[in-house]
Amino acid sequence: MLTGNDAGAGVATNPAHRIVIVGAGFAGLGMAIRLRQAGITNFLLLERAAEVGGTWRDNTYPGCACDIPSHLYSFSFAPSADWSRHYAGQAEIQAYLLGCVLEYGLRDQLQTGADLQEAVYYEAQQEWRLTLTSGTALRAEVLILARGALSEPSIPEIPGLEKFAGPKFHSAHWDHSVDLTGKRVGVIGTGASAIQFVPQIAPLVEKLTLFQRTPAWILPKRDIALSPAWRRALRSVPLLRRAHRTYLYWSHEARAIPFVVWPWLMRFAEQRARSYLKRQVVNPTLRECLIPDYRMGCKRILLSNDFQPSLNLPSVDLVTDNIIYVTSAGVKTAGVTTGGVTKGDGVERVLDVLILATGFAAGAPTGAPRVVGRAGADLRDHRQNYLGIAVPGFPNLFLLGGPNTGLGHNSIVFMLEAQIGLVLRRLRRHGTQTDEIRADAAARFGKGLDRRMRRTVWLSGCRSWYLDAAGRNTTLWPGFSIGYWLRTRLAPARIWRGGR
Ligand code: NAP
Repeated sequence: MLTGNDAGAGVATNPAHRIVIVGAGFAGLGMAIRLRQAGITNFLLLERAAEVGGTWRDNTYPGCACDIPSHLYSFSFAPSADWSRHYAGQAEIQAYLLGCVLEYGLRDQLQTGADLQEAVYYEAQQEWRLTLTSGTALRAEVLILARGALSEPSIPEIPGLEKFAGPKFHSAHWDHSVDLTGKRVGVIGTGASAIQFVPQIAPLVEKLTLFQRTPAWILPKRDIALSPAWRRALRSVPLLRRAHRTYLYWSHEARAIPFVVWPWLMRFAEQRARSYLKRQVVNPTLRECLIPDYRMGCKRILLSNDFQPSLNLPSVDLVTDNIIYVTSAGVKTAGVTTGGVTKGDGVERVLDVLILATGFAAGAPTGAPRVVGRAGADLRDHRQNYLGIAVPGFPNLFLLGGPNTGLGHNSIVFMLEAQIGLVLRRLRRHGTQTDEIRADAAARFGKGLDRRMRRTVWLSGCRSWYLDAAGRNTTLWPGFSIGYWLRTRLAPARIWRGGR
């Protein structure tokens, strides 16, 4: 293991790059494209998997699609007029990213199967020394971490889970070799992933048992196929494509108001969701189980036209009793609890296949590399940062998709582009000097963030993956995305050490 200021004899001969980007999902690929467009070619893109794409490579479950319109959920600097639907599916988004690799000639600078284990900053040499799990060592002047916030599946700590004898997989690693036809299938979780694949598999299986811990607020998904004529028009009139993107951006941006300014406004959308549920689910007892008891938006609002109707199928059982443990044959739930009293000793539901739709470890992914800055500081122990991009004590390190840069109302690609823009401007400005955010600037930014977070819907009293163990929202930006963009544009020179 390398430590802070140890020169490490063999390392000097290892390949050196001006810039190393870690992660080739939307963030890393976007950074690489912008570097290329800026004429900067001395960079290396490391990807731990065998192919680029991040979440859009991994999540291949049936029905996987984006819930942000594709003309907005794509790079403004690498636009496509060819989206087949308003909300594209996984395969089309992955094909778009692969197309970007081809179009911008990124293959030569891409190293797949390269899993970063450790990155250590060497102050005297002003460089980052990287060790991959393969043992390969690399050096870089600038390190850009673009590892994705939702890349580590969260495996629930349910006793006995490992004992289940049948096929068992997480939705982010769908096992396509398992034929679900005629099987008794259990699904744990009713979040954004489950609501997309449950309607796809429900008609195939003999019995689908859906274990719901907390219901989600669900609104209609206004999805349409985009006609060839519309696509032709977008292709031949770039101004139309830009105008369409601008319209989509602002229509989503307006939705920030109930999230970050007046959460009480959500009650109007809750009303809409309730009537939607009433139209979609016939059984009033089942309907009751599907109405959340928290303010809409506190957890991610889900868009679906077919999830709730699929629960009407006689082959689908919604189970709201707590899971106690998993056996080799199925899942055992607690008895029915009314007024804090549990009656009966529950039921064991026998299953052939168990699917975990339990989301991602957004906070501190266990597989994260160790990143060591000045004086042995570990990145995992550092909460202070500036715009989720720069961290005091970590010179020439930039994060893409870092803390508090997610959104509940608009496209994450917009946020990534704002971050990429700031990184590019810093790279142009600092030349070969070190670049580091000042600790007082990060502290001031953190205080403002906490203050603004207090009034958001995310702290209105629900348990969600947005919050860490201490109840702090470490994932979402508590404001308008345009405000975030402005801050990345207007970040003054004095907040960087050296004032450049
Ligand atoms: P998720 O929204 O976090 O849902 C996880 C589900 O698993 C929740 O229903 C959760 O219940 C349940 N769960 C977790 N641990 C459990 C346990 N121990 N016992 C019982 N139930 C448990 O995860 P996801 O559906 O994979 O989505 C994660 C995020 O990915 C989304 O919020 C979204 O940002 C992104 N995503 C986006 C799209 C898209 O269309 N753009 C599609 C899929 C995913 P609780 O609610 O009680 O915790």
